[in-house]
Amino acid sequence: MRKILIVGAGQSGLQLALGLQSQGYEITLMSNRTADEIRAGRVMSTQVMFHTALQHERDLRLNFWEEQAPRIEGLGVSIAGPPTAAGHARAVDWLGRLDGPAQSVDQRLKMAGWLELFERRGGQVVIHGASVSDLDVFANTYDLVLVAAGKGELVSLFGRDAARSPYDAPQRALAVAYVHGLGPRPEHPELDAVRCNLVPGVGELFVMPTLTSSGRADILFWEGVPGGPVDAFQGITDPSEHLARTLELMERFTPWEYARATKVELADAGATLAGRYTPTVRHPVGELPGGGRVLGVADVVVTNDPITGQGANSAAKCAAGYLESIVEHGDRPFDADWMRRTFDRYWATARHVTKWTNAMLAPPPEHIVRLLGAAGELPEAARRIANGFDDPADFEHFFYEPERTAAYLDELSASSA
Ligand SMILES: Cc1cc2nc3c(=O)[nH]c(=O)nc-3n(C[C@H](O)[C@H](O)[C@H](O)COP(=O)(O)OP(=O)(O)OC[C@H]3O[C@@H](n4cnc5c(N)ncnc54)[C@H](O)[C@@H]3O)c2cc1C
Repeated sequence: MRKILIVGAGQSGLQLALGLQSQGYEITLMSNRTADEIRAGRVMSTQVMFHTALQHERDLRLNFWEEQAPRIEGLGVSIAGPPTAAGHARAVDWLGRLDGPAQSVDQRLKMAGWLELFERRGGQVVIHGASVSDLDVFANTYDLVLVAAGKGELVSLFGRDAARSPYDAPQRALAVAYVHGLGPRPEHPELDAVRCNLVPGVGELFVMPTLTSSGRADILFWEGVPGGPVDAFQGITDPSEHLARTLELMERFTPWEYARATKVELADAGATLAGRYTPTVRHPVGELPGGGRVLGVADVVVTNDPITGQGANSAAKCAAGYLESIVEHGDRPFDADWMRRTFDRYWATARHVTKWTNAMLAPPPEHIVRLLGAAGELPEAARRIANGFDDPADFEHFFYEPERTAAYLDELSASSA
């Protein structure tokens, strides 16, 4: 039986551990926190996952929260117009229907549950924050070591791939609050959606429903341009002050969202998160001081800004692809060549996520402004953009190049005339 060590009990590490375990591999999972610590800790993400990623969980029968989690059936885009005496009005406002529902399950619930399941099924869990020297020792006792430790310190094992990493500093300051008591958007009270509110030059407010330990909640997530008015959470340690700041900014920049948020309260004591990080692609094979090699997984090797809500989706896709590569490889050694091929297979989809996410961090060119505006009149364009969150490769066909965008819009206008 092949022995594999996985470091990190997040979306990718646990999905891979449970998948390999069910195929008879002997898996050790190293986590720097126990399930109880994860459950009682601070929120980690907004974790909206779309159809393809959710299907990977269903394939492994890990979709335990699917019935309780709010069904997210659409994705809406609102763009704030220039400020007037009466505040910011919406210059653009539409909703695209998703072909398959999305959902968000608080990672504290999901990761704690999956970690306990892995242990109940006979998996070995080691509670320890792994260091490079630990890995040096373990590399000799396992057939394969996978580093799925997210954005933690172990990324230092994997060199930055400068050609694939256009940014060398964070592009947004992030501030998340999980709340109870948010009202529905009056235009579609019957339908749950991810609401993307873009405030040009300032940042974005994302609002979405989630399932957390106290039941249904909604997430208010500001992404602020560094140095701008929404980059205003540094140094706030009191969760209620964090929420008050979130709401002040909503009242000022997105009054249509603030109008339904006047009665909200925090979901729990760990319901807020603030921070920032640099989007980075890394080389996938880490060399240990003693000569051993380890393979990076998901965020360790491809970290994107959460502006497009892709990291957990990508982690699920990465784990599914790595699982297939490991199983296909049979009893042959997991050498550096195999590691690179395994990553390349993942990069074939991840590159579309990185390209699109990095594009969304930059000020939008004229043709994108036109596309987002036109989607208000063309439901098919709204539907296609919304479903691009499930499969960002589709953006190649109509998003990046002005000529392709114009041709797409002309075609849609002609067919709807
Ligand atoms: C504010 C915010 C909002 C987001 N919203 C979305 C969204 O809506 N949709 C989406 O798809 N993605 C979203 N993401 C991204 C998504 O959460 C991550 O990309 C995803 O969780 C990455 O999964 P992972 O398995 O690579 O790492 P993680 O989920 O980060 O898991 C890594 C695990 O390893 C552990 N660890 C770290 N170091 C060590 C060590 N040395 N030893 C042992 N264990 C260690 C960590 O504690 C953690 O449990 C968001 C991220 C942020 C910050």
